[in-house]
Amino acid sequence: MTPRAPADGATLLSVVPAAGDRRRHPAPAHLRFFHGPMDCGKSTLALQVDHNHSRQGRRGLLLTQGDRSAGPQISSRVGLCREALEVDAGTDLRLLVRDHWAAGHRVDYLIVDEAQFLTADQVDQLAELVDESHVDVYAFGLTTDFRTRLFPGTQRLLEVADDVQRIQVEVLCWCGLPGLLNARVVDGGMVREGETVVVADTAPTPAPDADVHYQVLCRRHHVLGQLGPTAAGPGQLALC
Ligand SMILES: [Zn+2]
Repeated sequence: MTPRAPADGATLLSVVPAAGDRRRHPAPAHLRFFHGPMDCGKSTLALQVDHNHSRQGRRGLLLTQGDRSAGPQISSRVGLCREALEVDAGTDLRLLVRDHWAAGHRVDYLIVDEAQFLTADQVDQLAELVDESHVDVYAFGLTTDFRTRLFPGTQRLLEVADDVQRIQVEVLCWCGLPGLLNARVVDGGMVREGETVVVADTAPTPAPDADVHYQVLCRRHHVLGQLGPTAAGPGQLALC
């Protein structure tokens, strides 16, 4: 075998040393997207994937934004938690990874929680990291907003991800049917208009001025706007 010249169009990223052995033996990396409604166990799965990779000696970065804990970490409602890097719409994810390489840290994979909040450009940056730098990316996000429309990041991930999986942990509507859609509840009533992103928890908060929360409903009850008898109670039915 004769050494090959770098391919035309190789990006700046491709000359950055990284990813240990995977640079010498480039294996195809993948962009994987896991999505579902609130409470379906996305963050729990994200932390499990990170745990499985780190056990194999791989090094990863965990990214999130607008996490419900209001701090730079990935937390799940079943009590797991791990520190994460907070990103926002202005973060260039390629530069973020390159900065870690420059500091001498390996980055074999990225775990991206709350991926629905990514911009389309940021999803394309993730795809570039996969294709040009062989970084595996696992993105986790909500499917639709409270108006039942795809989030921008979700839409782009559905368009370009190598692998898309709807998370199979079943969240139940109050009626017992599978919950597919997120309802925004303000002052005890369901609303259908407003800003796409209002970060709140799915459990009704006791504070009288914290009057926004989300509830997962089946399609029929989302259409009807019926929150059920548990709307004012502690949380909602969920199997996660
Ligand atoms: Zn229902």
